[in-house]
Amino acid sequence: MNTPHNIYIHVPFCVAKCRYCAFFSRACPAPDWDAYTNGIIDEIGHFSGVLGRISVPTVFFGGGTPSLMPTKKFAEIMDAIYRHFDVAPDAEITIEANPGTLDDTKLGEFCAAGVNRMSVGVQSLDDEKLKFLGRIHNAYDARQLIDNGMRRSIRVSADFIYGLPGECVGDAIKMCDEINRIGISHCSLYELTIEPDTPFGKMKLDMPTNETMAEMYIAIQNNLKLPRYEVSNYAAPGHECRHNQNVWDGEPYIGIGNGAAGRIFLDGAWYEELGGGKMFNKMSNDARAIERVITGMRTTRGLRIDPDIKKILNLEFAKSHTNMITFSGDRMRATDAGILVLDDLIEKLVK
Ligand code: SF4
Repeated sequence: MNTPHNIYIHVPFCVAKCRYCAFFSRACPAPDWDAYTNGIIDEIGHFSGVLGRISVPTVFFGGGTPSLMPTKKFAEIMDAIYRHFDVAPDAEITIEANPGTLDDTKLGEFCAAGVNRMSVGVQSLDDEKLKFLGRIHNAYDARQLIDNGMRRSIRVSADFIYGLPGECVGDAIKMCDEINRIGISHCSLYELTIEPDTPFGKMKLDMPTNETMAEMYIAIQNNLKLPRYEVSNYAAPGHECRHNQNVWDGEPYIGIGNGAAGRIFLDGAWYEELGGGKMFNKMSNDARAIERVITGMRTTRGLRIDPDIKKILNLEFAKSHTNMITFSGDRMRATDAGILVLDDLIEKLVK
């Protein structure tokens, strides 16, 4: 059976480790790209053996810092994907890019190799804050990279972090004003969370209170010109990240590269794929449905209520909390009030 699968490729290398980062990545500005690329190409061959010549609607290179990768290596990986799978003619091909790791020429080479969407790790447009976060670039570098992407007419997204120590609602509004002025069609705004095994986790930081964080979140909804389509993601209509939308909606995806995970659908069954395809665990339909509740309820498109979802959903609870949940067609979604207490809501939604 040819079930389409989205493809995620993880590139776990960065120039330096940011002080807040708990992602699967390590500081290694000059990795052995030949070895890593060959490993990825082997995995692509392995998946094509298991799944056959599947169609591929999206490819997402995430990290880490995929923009560190030599473009020749990137092109070799894309060639392998095209050789083994049926990549849709309008496939979305995203690369995560960090300012300070690629100039306009290199961006042009990525585009020539198929990239049509770039997600830029900006985090802040304040040089002091960038230094505090341990970023390797300044605000000017970030603006340059965004401008280069926009000039090349690829879709450009930018990631920002809010809720730094000492920040207040005014800072969130200022950040929204800056994003509005840039005029990008997609951005992701994440609250700074302090993870224990990071440099920030070992510091005593004077973080904003939960109330202030919630006020900042509401201020973002009120001041950003782009509508929210997921808890932390905002886009002009039609500019949403298709890869993430597909994954959040419960479509299968292959994870390739160290630290990548995937959800494979094969012969009518779901498999959890860990460790770059080396381990496959069969998943029950209930376990997969619970995952879909968690990701689907984060989106404004909402959760599609199909027979698998009906089995695990507390529909009575959902229908009796109209201030938190709304229904439209075969989908349900959290209201603005529901989004603010989403974790609790999801817990109560699952039987
Ligand atoms: S660039 Fe991204 S993945 Fe790399 S250390 Fe910084 S936050 Fe982590």
